[in-house]
Amino acid sequence: MAKTDTLHIVGGGMAGSEAAWQAANMGVSVVLHEMRPHVKTFAHRTGNMGEMVCSNSFRSDDDEQNAVGLLHWEMRTAEGLIITTAHRHRLPAGGALAVDRDPFSEAITKALTDHPNIAISHEEVSELPSEGQWIFATGPLTSENLGAAIQAETGADRLAFFDALAPIVYAESIDMDVAWRQSRYDKGETEEEQKAYINCPMTKPQYEAFIDALLAADKTEFHDGETATYFDGCLPIEVMAERGRETLRHGPMKPVGLTNPHKPEEKAYAVVQLRRDNALGTLYNIVGFQTKMKYGAQASVFKMIPGLENASFARLGGIHRNTFLNAPTLLDAQMRLRSKPNIRFAGQVTGVEGYVESAAMGLLAGRMAAAEILGQPLPVVPQDTAHGALVHHITGGAEAKTFQPMNVNFGLFRPLDGLRGGRKGRRERYKGYTDRAKEEWSRWLATQKEPA
Ligand SMILES: Cc1cc2nc3c(=O)[nH]c(=O)nc-3n(C[C@H](O)[C@H](O)[C@H](O)COP(=O)(O)OP(=O)(O)OC[C@H]3O[C@@H](n4cnc5c(N)ncnc54)[C@H](O)[C@@H]3O)c2cc1C
Repeated sequence: MAKTDTLHIVGGGMAGSEAAWQAANMGVSVVLHEMRPHVKTFAHRTGNMGEMVCSNSFRSDDDEQNAVGLLHWEMRTAEGLIITTAHRHRLPAGGALAVDRDPFSEAITKALTDHPNIAISHEEVSELPSEGQWIFATGPLTSENLGAAIQAETGADRLAFFDALAPIVYAESIDMDVAWRQSRYDKGETEEEQKAYINCPMTKPQYEAFIDALLAADKTEFHDGETATYFDGCLPIEVMAERGRETLRHGPMKPVGLTNPHKPEEKAYAVVQLRRDNALGTLYNIVGFQTKMKYGAQASVFKMIPGLENASFARLGGIHRNTFLNAPTLLDAQMRLRSKPNIRFAGQVTGVEGYVESAAMGLLAGRMAAAEILGQPLPVVPQDTAHGALVHHITGGAEAKTFQPMNVNFGLFRPLDGLRGGRKGRRERYKGYTDRAKEEWSRWLATQKEPA
């Protein structure tokens, strides 16, 4: 193989380690560039590859009823390094896949170091090269120099350094006997635009009780070193409430330009709005509700909103130090930078969220890059698999204007004909999604060359 056929991967975390493993197993020479231990981040402690920076959990391992568990299954059947090593270093944790973190990352480091097709180079990469095949998997704590180089290429507004996650609700779990569809002042050319939002009305006592609950809720702190100044326009809702009990009513919860068709005579005191979050229309985010409330508190506080009493959440809110691209506008379906197609991105920097999702995007990017080098392009990843649903979401399915990191969830999956909606049909529906995904994923894997 010619020297130019080497694949360079930057970042030896969840995504970069997995990408290196997959590409090397396809017979491609890989150089893995990792800046640690010479250049540190505030969250990593070691120079190991695949270090878990915080929790030691890969979340649910249930591959029939849980979308993360399905991602585990898909990675396992693709002989993923991260997931198989996690299983080897599993700790008892009920249905979750908890991992003994140090032996885990030591085993990942050894597997990569021992691989005949992989060389590890401990150095920071601070630019986006114009030549050669590269995958950047530098994660939420991408180094400052590289962040500046990425912004120079993409434009400053296309690379964020903090996320501001508003909770996302499954559309089917919103009570439309209480809520209604309408954009403020019926704005928009088409009926779809005029009904783009779902509105949940509050009376004065409901609003007051909601503010009390927000103020009393347990909040999470930023990690040491994760210093944050809040930006105007993405203040946590509880911080807005602390600034004055009426602040939210004059901000994201203002009740103007809206008429409740269920009670046209009654003027709502405040209105919570939800906006469509994906092209499928299965997910809605609560507009302006980014928050540092603890997860348990969020579920109970948000269920006080009329219409959301039985809401199921695809993602809860949060605000974290997190470097991520506006992937829907910047990346093509092969995860290549549109403006520089010799460069791919993978992992959390592409706008997925979590160890498992990041490793999964590394798995795809590694296979895609290796296939391109070998001159055997991969068939499109089926959209009805967990990997396919995620990559489709970040590279096209998500709303680009309001793009924020996403974890894998069944709201990203195309509906299955003939299956019952709502809470009651959930077990059967999730089984239907996971069965369909397993079949499609197995078929997709079978189209590829056996590992060398
Ligand atoms: C404080 C914190 C806590 C978190 N807690 C959790 C959690 O509990 N559970 C969870 O699922 N996720 C958590 N995350 C998110 C987690 O980081 C990701 O899920 C996962 O690690 C992302 O994988 P990745 O490969 O994209 O990035 P990483 O695993 O971070 O790997 C990126 C690698 O790139 C290297 N790098 C960066 N810039 C350069 C450069 N210029 N040159 C060379 N190397 C470079 C870094 O040193 C790092 O090793 C947390 C993130 C942070 C910041």
